[in-house]
Amino acid sequence: MAYIIDGKKISLEIKNEVKNEVLKLAEKGVKPCLAVILVGENPASQVYVRNKKKACEYVGIKSLSYELPSDISENKLLELIDDLNKNSECNGILVQLPLPKHIDEEKVLLAIDPKKDVDGFHPYNVGLLSVGKAFLKACTPAGCIELIKRSGVDISGKNCVVVGRSNIVGKPAAMLLTAENGTVTVCHSKTKNIDEEIRRGDIVIAAVGKPNFIKGDMISDGAVVIDVGINRLENGKLCGDVDFYECEKKASFITPVPGGVGPMTIAMLMKNCLLACEIQLGFELGKNRAKDI
Ligand code: NDP
Repeated sequence: MAYIIDGKKISLEIKNEVKNEVLKLAEKGVKPCLAVILVGENPASQVYVRNKKKACEYVGIKSLSYELPSDISENKLLELIDDLNKNSECNGILVQLPLPKHIDEEKVLLAIDPKKDVDGFHPYNVGLLSVGKAFLKACTPAGCIELIKRSGVDISGKNCVVVGRSNIVGKPAAMLLTAENGTVTVCHSKTKNIDEEIRRGDIVIAAVGKPNFIKGDMISDGAVVIDVGINRLENGKLCGDVDFYECEKKASFITPVPGGVGPMTIAMLMKNCLLACEIQLGFELGKNRAKDI
């Protein structure tokens, strides 16, 4: 039976670490600030935004909230982002996706100052990630890496299989695993013999968006299985991309859904807000990263 990785516990650890750093900044008269922009009334997005604000409150980060009507023009949204880019009191900008169809998401993400891009989606930050110098990393994949490392698993030299190649999860997860010296295979909808590929994984990250896609016979004995999937079943229950009950019997470590990767995304967002604030203040971050940007 696998050890079940407790994402709630690890995410709380990270939020507490951020909280401590925020307290140290407060002694210097600095309070990090995150602007959260929500366009329209998508109920799932409203829940995500509410949870992000709650996390800000918990760690002591100030949150500015912009709830805009769904028919707002692209230009008005871009103007707001421009104002926030120039506002030195705002350290992070998050635009909750998806956006209404009349707004070009790519244009909006490009408009955010990379130093304030706490989601880590701006091509500049993706570029830094690909050359191994990222400081603002996409929150969900960065959360997966924390779950693996804080469970005591060494990624170095391991065969890592990422199932899914989206820009927000699969691709950055593959780059982060490579940076940790994993040997990485990325699978997608055109991958041949996907079962065999996944079975080669000492570490498997599933980001497919298909309920129970990864079955017990697709993983190797002792694999570390990280399930990013969030799928809503007809009965209203949440389920991951991994068949938990089958895989739990073979894996050495496994994340549940809910309570695995989900809570990590917001914890890593808080960490990114803190980092963004420090970068803007010109802190060295130990590795001179402030100078890279
Ligand atoms: P996308 O739909 O953007 O990407 C899905 C990926 O899975 C694609 O690369 C696709 O391949 C691949 N795929 C789809 N079907 C198959 C198949 N039959 N065999 C192999 N590969 C397949 O999803 P996201 O990356 O945005 O999200 C993935 C999951 O993670 C979703 O359930 C989402 O809800 C969840 N999620 C959870 C988060 C969290 O905080 N825990 C945050 C973000 C996402 P191809 O590229 O060839 O089409």
